[in-house]
Amino acid sequence: AGEVRFDNVRFGYDPDREILKGVSFTVPAGRTLAIVGPSGAGKSTIARLLFRFYDVTGGRILIDGQDVRAVTQASLRGAIGIVPQDMVLFNDTVGYNIAYGRQGADMAAIEVAARDASVHDFITGLPLGYDTRVGERGLKLSGGEKQRVAIARTLLKDPPVLVLDEATSALDSRTEAEIQDVLGRIARRRTTLVVAHRLSTVVDADEIIVLDGGMVAERGRHADLVRAG
Ligand code: ADP
Ligand code: ADP
Repeated sequence: AGEVRFDNVRFGYDPDREILKGVSFTVPAGRTLAIVGPSGAGKSTIARLLFRFYDVTGGRILIDGQDVRAVTQASLRGAIGIVPQDMVLFNDTVGYNIAYGRQGADMAAIEVAARDASVHDFITGLPLGYDTRVGERGLKLSGGEKQRVAIARTLLKDPPVLVLDEATSALDSRTEAEIQDVLGRIARRRTTLVVAHRLSTVVDADEIIVLDGGMVAERGRHADLVRAG
């Protein structure tokens, strides 16, 4: 489960300015699609539409063949996990932040959920105890640590569809490479949409689409797009 399909999707935040002018793609269950393109092209908008922060003004978005508008908010939240670029953490422990959103979550529940090896890597890869306090607005953690907590939180929901919205682009290149490596392993086991700022960070994607001017300007695998310049 977890096929995501955009069928001629059109959208504008304002009626007189269309951001997406007919975008189509299919991500088969378990595959990875990367969305690249210049800033302002509408990449994050695609993620927001999938999650129904906004609704399309034309076309359809389907998950496993079902229009997202026909799905309850609760099951949509269960089906899709989003890791944004800069997730806000609570002024509480790492454990609390990771468990956030899970009913009655305690350390035992976290460890059960972490049986998924990829999630386990993420949690144990933190150079922090579950009981480390994150501190006011998460400021005591480095960018990489915060992002690991944020990703672990989303992975614990075990969503069939994972959306990484420039999840590592704010990090230094060594930390980005480290986290990309783990994310790459995770992505291999579920449907993943990666919004990226650089083609070089999405080498392994099954398909890459380049958004420009509200449309899919190019699509293909990394090698094809690099060859095309
Ligand atoms: P990208 O992720 O490719 O940088 P976005 O999807 O964030 O682009 O934004 C696409 C366009 O929509 C940009 O021109 C941006 O200014 C505009 N936009 C984004 N969010 C809003 C909003 N909430 N209201 C109005 N316009 C917005
Ligand atoms: P839950 O408690 O079920 O995780 P939330 O409403 O807190 O539900 O968030 C659902 C998902 O959407 C989470 O993965 C969260 O990181 C992400 N999310 C929530 N709000 C935003 C936002 N404003 N921008 C981007 N992602 C968000």
